[in-house]
Amino acid sequence: MGLSTTQDAEQQRAFEELKNSIGPRSTIILPEDSNYNDSKRIWNAMFDNKNPSIILQATGVADVQVAIHYAQRVGVVVTPRGGGHSWAGFSTVEGGVVIDFCKMRSVHVDPILQTVTVEPGVLLGELDHETQAFGLAVPVGVISHTGVFGLVLGGGVGWLCRKYGGSVDNIISANIVLADGRFVKASKTENADLFWAIRGAAQNFGIVTSLTIQAHPVGLAYRGSYVSTELHRSPSHLIQFYPMDQIEEVLHAINEFQKTAPREYNCEVYNRGRIDGSSEMFLKICYSFYLPQEEAEKAAEPLKEIGRPIEHSWKWITHVENQKIFDMESPHHRRYYAKSGSINFDDMNSHFVDAFKWGVANLTSPYCMVEMIGLGGAMKDSSAEHAAFFPLRSQDWLVNVVASWNNDVPAEEDQKHIEWCRESFQRLHTKNPGYINMFADACRDTMQERLSRAFGNNLNQLRLVKRRYDPYNFFRHNVNVLPATDEDLETESTFSNE
Ligand SMILES: Cc1cc2nc3c(=O)[nH]c(=O)nc-3n(C[C@H](O)[C@H](O)[C@H](O)COP(=O)(O)OP(=O)(O)OC[C@H]3O[C@@H](n4cnc5c(N)ncnc54)[C@H](O)[C@@H]3O)c2cc1C
Repeated sequence: MGLSTTQDAEQQRAFEELKNSIGPRSTIILPEDSNYNDSKRIWNAMFDNKNPSIILQATGVADVQVAIHYAQRVGVVVTPRGGGHSWAGFSTVEGGVVIDFCKMRSVHVDPILQTVTVEPGVLLGELDHETQAFGLAVPVGVISHTGVFGLVLGGGVGWLCRKYGGSVDNIISANIVLADGRFVKASKTENADLFWAIRGAAQNFGIVTSLTIQAHPVGLAYRGSYVSTELHRSPSHLIQFYPMDQIEEVLHAINEFQKTAPREYNCEVYNRGRIDGSSEMFLKICYSFYLPQEEAEKAAEPLKEIGRPIEHSWKWITHVENQKIFDMESPHHRRYYAKSGSINFDDMNSHFVDAFKWGVANLTSPYCMVEMIGLGGAMKDSSAEHAAFFPLRSQDWLVNVVASWNNDVPAEEDQKHIEWCRESFQRLHTKNPGYINMFADACRDTMQERLSRAFGNNLNQLRLVKRRYDPYNFFRHNVNVLPATDEDLETESTFSNE
């Protein structure tokens, strides 16, 4: 079977070679195949119109190498897909090759070393499921259908990041296929420059085929047929709903609380309607404490005193349940657009609160939201030399404005929601670092400005490492770090090419 009748002979030969070189369980899906439309879709329906020329469902490193070779031979872009949750649609590509890792999903836990080795198609829920069998967890994000690789390699914030650092801080080593097809390991002791760079900007340097990550004791420890008594490590979870007219008092109070809160605590704040589907918006706050129950009760007391919530629930739940509580709020195949920034405690002023209120008062769809997620704690423990992922560490809150609307509306309506998102974000005036994993624009014009916000002074170092490992910018369908040029090295003292 060929790609199309007009394909030239060289392209046809390259394709035949690809077909004959992939693993016996691997699959190539082409536009004419009946499962193509389902296979090409990613989480964000904004990219349903993208048509890759080939989707390769890979089963190992060898497939990645042959796919890179093929893409270079025919001159197309290659892009990997883990969980497919890229806001900017980077895990699909018009006319290019998608390496879909949906068949590579093994998770191996080493309970003695408390480490876990994962393949690139694993989702957060699958990782949590395996690690929890050993009473362990990796600090990852809070929606279980998100992919591990995209999230972990780009930063990774969630319930446990204030205690154990960002997901990125827990990477021990990575196996990577580079643009020239070489398979290398990156760790503190091997290719240390690459190891530094992939922890924040991996897509720019190669395709990561496995990750070994540090896990930590969390939750119930199932040991054979009995459950350990170390129950205290499971989270206590508090949810409160407030009418929007209390927003000022509530935001200031949780901001104050977080200044001295234990690292085992984190919190997520956003607007939501009530479960009965009424159109009125409320402020919903979810707090988690990974503490012994009595300690958690005591630590949460000041939170229970805040304002006059209309709903309030305090529960002790499992870590796996905690990791799924937002799953239904961001389902697959809606249309999404987002802007991401951050604030420090001092930025929580009346201007910020007014902007938050404006966003909620002017929602263009009931699914749109302004959200804040707690940072700080162990996130602040690492320096810029530790990993490329850096500026967000200095911040106290991640602030995202998320536009979300149904996929069955005419495309002309998209702009209305996108404009709401942009205006709400602009009003928040958060010029502070943004989170690269939340960038929803693939727009090249503003890419360098956004890269600077995400990486700060680490950007030049990233460009140097890019020059070493991908000098021709083969991996460019991403938040793209350009290789440092000869001119950069001659003219800018900030490029220290030791
Ligand atoms: C519903 C939802 C909830 C989220 N919640 C959180 C959260 O709680 N905390 C948080 O920190 N972030 C969160 N995020 C952001 C999330 O971290 C990013 O969207 C992340 O990129 C998703 O990873 P993925 O593997 O699912 O995505 P993909 O789209 O598969 O990949 C994302 C990017 O990584 C690249 N990539 C994928 N696999 C590889 C690989 N093997 N080697 C090199 N590059 C690769 C892709 O090409 C793409 O550029 C959330 C996103 C969504 C959509």
